[in-house]
Amino acid sequence: MNFHLNPEQAAFQAEVIDFIEHSLPAGWNDEHGTFAERLAVEREVMTRLAARHWLALPWPKEYGGLGASPMQQLIFNEQMAYHRVPGTVNMGVAWVGPVVMLYGRDDQKQQYLSRIADGTDLWCTLYSEPGAGSDLAAMQTRAVRDGDDYIINGQKIWTSFGHYADWGWLAARTDPDVPKHKGISTFAIKMDTPGITVRPLINMAGSHEFNEIFFEDVRVPAANLVGEENRGWYNVAVGLDFERSSIGATSGSRRHVDELVAYLRTQKPRIDPAIKHRLVDEAIGVALLRNMAYYIASQQEKTGIAPTRESQMAKLFGAELQQRIAATALQVFGMEGQAARPGSASSDYQYSLLRSVANTIEGGTSEIQRAVIATRGLGLPRE
Ligand SMILES: Cc1cc2nc3c(=O)[nH]c(=O)nc-3n(C[C@H](O)[C@H](O)[C@H](O)COP(=O)(O)OP(=O)(O)OC[C@H]3O[C@@H](n4cnc5c(N)ncnc54)[C@H](O)[C@@H]3O)c2cc1C
Repeated sequence: MNFHLNPEQAAFQAEVIDFIEHSLPAGWNDEHGTFAERLAVEREVMTRLAARHWLALPWPKEYGGLGASPMQQLIFNEQMAYHRVPGTVNMGVAWVGPVVMLYGRDDQKQQYLSRIADGTDLWCTLYSEPGAGSDLAAMQTRAVRDGDDYIINGQKIWTSFGHYADWGWLAARTDPDVPKHKGISTFAIKMDTPGITVRPLINMAGSHEFNEIFFEDVRVPAANLVGEENRGWYNVAVGLDFERSSIGATSGSRRHVDELVAYLRTQKPRIDPAIKHRLVDEAIGVALLRNMAYYIASQQEKTGIAPTRESQMAKLFGAELQQRIAATALQVFGMEGQAARPGSASSDYQYSLLRSVANTIEGGTSEIQRAVIATRGLGLPRE
């Protein structure tokens, strides 16, 4: 295995770093602005990325991407995550677009894809419900055909970005009388459609990322059904595969460890050996995760598909590593870490610790990931 960048890849990496250093809008790294200010900056970052066809980098050129290889995508994701560039977590790009490319009609590809790739439309994902998370196929939100429309009634929850998304990628039950995986369909729905109510849910870190969303007699044109009626579960499953195989966005962890090491080197003449040992463990974790990401990308280059088992392992390992690094960071800062003031170096780590709880829940919990890896990855029998 050789993970060295070839000259073309090294040149692309240099181009990405140059973009980050010279072409981002003013204030892109100010994490303490108001929500409206940060959203405006995020949108501007997306517009600038889109101008280079980097927003939807791996998409085919006809849909506004560059047809980038998995390795190029990894290089891009690594730099964006390491430098904490906003606007690069994009559900439209990561899974809605790829599923539309696979199962959508030509007119749907025309309508949705270019507006995702050029940064015009942001999408949210409307899957989870109060009674359907890990057991997602138990969803109860109904879509009932009525002439040229479907009428949607029900509730979704934990909808990230639902408060500013332009479109929603909705999974709803179209047939309640068949086994649960068989009666689900997927729709593209405009988030300003009458009958949709978005209510904020504030997470334990104090930020507004997700929402609960209510549908009351919401009419969505039947033309917005993506794929075949009642076969939406396959779209959802393929979309989740795209979500879990996203590679390279793990270098945020490397950045955290680098910052902690730099802080200790310059600020602390004497360091508790226990802290040093923990940091060594985190540095090993970061190196391992990076190697996993490069392995996944290299396999994807060879075979055209991301290796499922390794992608799931990387998702699981990365989520838990982020939690460990955030906990180690508070140890590094000692009492200052426990009593963080907004704006101080350690307050970012306090936020990271609280936010990292969600890492092992979003996109499928660690328990579910372990169960899937045990059976499908390691071939162990089901309970
Ligand atoms: C930050 C964040 C963002 C999110 N964004 C979105 C979004 O944009 N759109 C969306 O649709 N959803 C979103 N989600 C929801 C997420 O997909 C679900 O929270 C997740 O799938 C778990 O479902 P649940 O919360 O209903 O927990 P449950 O499924 O009720 O699970 C509760 C606990 O039981 C465990 N458990 C459940 N079943 C089993 C089992 N069979 N074996 C062992 N343990 C089990 C779980 O691991 C968990 O610890 C988001 C969640 C978070 C935290």
